[in-house]
Amino acid sequence: MSLENTQLNELHWLMEMLHNIDVGLVVLDRDYTIQIWNGFMENHSGLLPRETKGKVLFDLFAEIPKDWFVRKAESVFMLKNKAFTIWEQRPYLFKFDNYRPITGTADFMYQNTTFIPLMSSTGEVTHLCLIVYDVTDSAVHKQELEKANDSLEILSQTDGLTGLFNRIHWESCLQAEYKRWTRTHTTASLVMLDIDHFKKINDGYGHMVGDEVIRHISGLIKQHARETDTAGRYGGEEFTILLPDTNLKNAYVFAERLRKAVESSMVKYNDIELNYTISLGIAEVNESFASYEAWIECADAALYQAKEGGRNQVGLYRS
Ligand code: GH3
Ligand code: MG
Ligand code: MG
Repeated sequence: MSLENTQLNELHWLMEMLHNIDVGLVVLDRDYTIQIWNGFMENHSGLLPRETKGKVLFDLFAEIPKDWFVRKAESVFMLKNKAFTIWEQRPYLFKFDNYRPITGTADFMYQNTTFIPLMSSTGEVTHLCLIVYDVTDSAVHKQELEKANDSLEILSQTDGLTGLFNRIHWESCLQAEYKRWTRTHTTASLVMLDIDHFKKINDGYGHMVGDEVIRHISGLIKQHARETDTAGRYGGEEFTILLPDTNLKNAYVFAERLRKAVESSMVKYNDIELNYTISLGIAEVNESFASYEAWIECADAALYQAKEGGRNQVGLYRS
């Protein structure tokens, strides 16, 4: 075979490979007219090379934002540098269907695209090559991982029985609120509550009913608290509610409303119906608290007073 023939063959093979490679290859001229359209682009767009050749990119693909694309491409023409766009910035350049079986949940093909300047023999950039990568698999996996991490985070902060914050997370919220108070001195109150004679409920009706009562009080807390309040399950049948921007007087109004709601409601479990009550203690944050733990202790002391005073009542911590 002559040297010329060998080179011709190699060129032919190269063309064949570029046509069949599993990435999109598009060549555009200075007017964004399509010059080359490989097999990947053909398969995913349904347009044959002869149907795209000589056509302006934006006329065929309305989904490509022209201003953005031209700005990006012009910098490649001018600076003779590569440019990139990744799926996190823009999920796709060409809106192709996603056909992958594993990541079939995605509605479209996620793409990363590289813009490459193509130089003429005179050193001028006359054309632009787009290389389009199908990154649907990694995009979907990354999104699923992020979703799983988000739900894991929520799960790790939540008490399983009640859906309220667990003690560890709730305490970190209280600590943050305490720190905020030391900076801004906008007040906040802490409500602690404990179910009265809960042992009797457990002993008289069993733990299942006891659990139902715990769920019941949690539901009432959620119902009465504002969105900005932070409610947690502090221990077995002890709960805490942090009320930002709320002084002792207003916290008392909240606590009384909750106490009355509990007193007047009925818990039903199969054919069992029972009433229960709660005792509450409130402490408004003040200068004498050296830490958030001191704040908890004072709310707990107020709760103890309420128990001592005969239960089913609200105790106030006065500094
Ligand atoms: P008091 O009015 O003084 O609060 O009386 P009490 O009987 O409620 O006393 P205390 O608050 O000390 O009772 C706590 C009891 O709650 C002890 C424990 O058996 C029960 N308990 C703690 N966690 C759970 C739980 O998750 N489910 C059930 N069913 N019972 C629990
Ligand atoms: Mg208790
Ligand atoms: Mg109790």
